[in-house]
Amino acid sequence: MNLPPLPDFNDVRAAANRIQGQAHRTPVITSRTVNEALGAEVFFKCENLQRMGAFKFRGAFNALSRFDARQRSAGVVAFSSGNHAQAIALSARILGIPATIVMPQDAPAAKIAATRGYGGNVVLYDRYTEDREQIGRDLAQQHGMTLIPPYNHPDVIAGQGTAALELFEEVGALDALFVPLGGGGLISGSALAARAMAPDCRVYGVEPEAGNDAQQSFRSGSIVHIDTPKTIADGAQTQHLGDLTFAIIRRDVDDVLTATDAELVDCMRFAAERLKMVFEPTGCLGFAAARRMRNELAGKRVGVIISGGNVDLDRFCALLAQ
Ligand SMILES: *Cc1c(COP(=O)(O)O)cnc(C)c1O
Repeated sequence: MNLPPLPDFNDVRAAANRIQGQAHRTPVITSRTVNEALGAEVFFKCENLQRMGAFKFRGAFNALSRFDARQRSAGVVAFSSGNHAQAIALSARILGIPATIVMPQDAPAAKIAATRGYGGNVVLYDRYTEDREQIGRDLAQQHGMTLIPPYNHPDVIAGQGTAALELFEEVGALDALFVPLGGGGLISGSALAARAMAPDCRVYGVEPEAGNDAQQSFRSGSIVHIDTPKTIADGAQTQHLGDLTFAIIRRDVDDVLTATDAELVDCMRFAAERLKMVFEPTGCLGFAAARRMRNELAGKRVGVIISGGNVDLDRFCALLAQ
């Protein structure tokens, strides 16, 4: 198998320098109630408070910062209906790069509006009859644009790793780190940071139980493809890992765990009630897994990355009312 070189911790450090002053250094919060409930010392890295509401700004801004003059003038293209689209559109606007975002016609109007609001040129497609990757590749080829994928890219992975880097800088070594997992960009970058900054820390990726392709891949040793899973964790409805993220996960991650939709809703309610914070369903994956592992975590220092907070209020209320 021919892999491009994998990013390493030096790339994460370089990304941290590039995003400095543009990405927020998000707060790390603690809660006595959580510590008592888990019998552990828990540190939440709050990427729900990142610019555009999720960690994806880190990877997108890092990747676009590395464009050369030709790439900058031809522009960037991305396909996504979620946080990656907004991250690319916002980063491109800051850097003065034209951005084209390929989104499904039936994406939530609010998300299309947000992406346009950040200055992105939105191209709509029919998700039942058209292939977004093909549309993205065609645009890239016809107009010389650079395609930035949501997770399987060295600069995206390195950028995503800066959240864990900041967490370790702030709280020191940890015994365990829990990280939401979709296509694996965030967990890969986090694992690079953990291996360098806290070598004994156990690193767990957490995906929705209904779509446990990464867990299957991790355990079987090759990338497993699944149908788009039915879950409220819309940021982790990916069908498979990438070759880069899989290689890093296999090497540097200790295990891949899962959480159910009911557990995610429980965490959202807890966060709203006790932490006074809005977490999106996908953002709760790490927290849900840590709660499930309570017995093994007694007395430990535990990091939990909250990956995002983008959920519209009607949906938030409907989920909590169920
Ligand atoms: C994209 C996303 C994830 C999953 O990240 P990957 O890098 O694809 O594993 C998790 N949470 C939120 C909020 C996201 O937007």
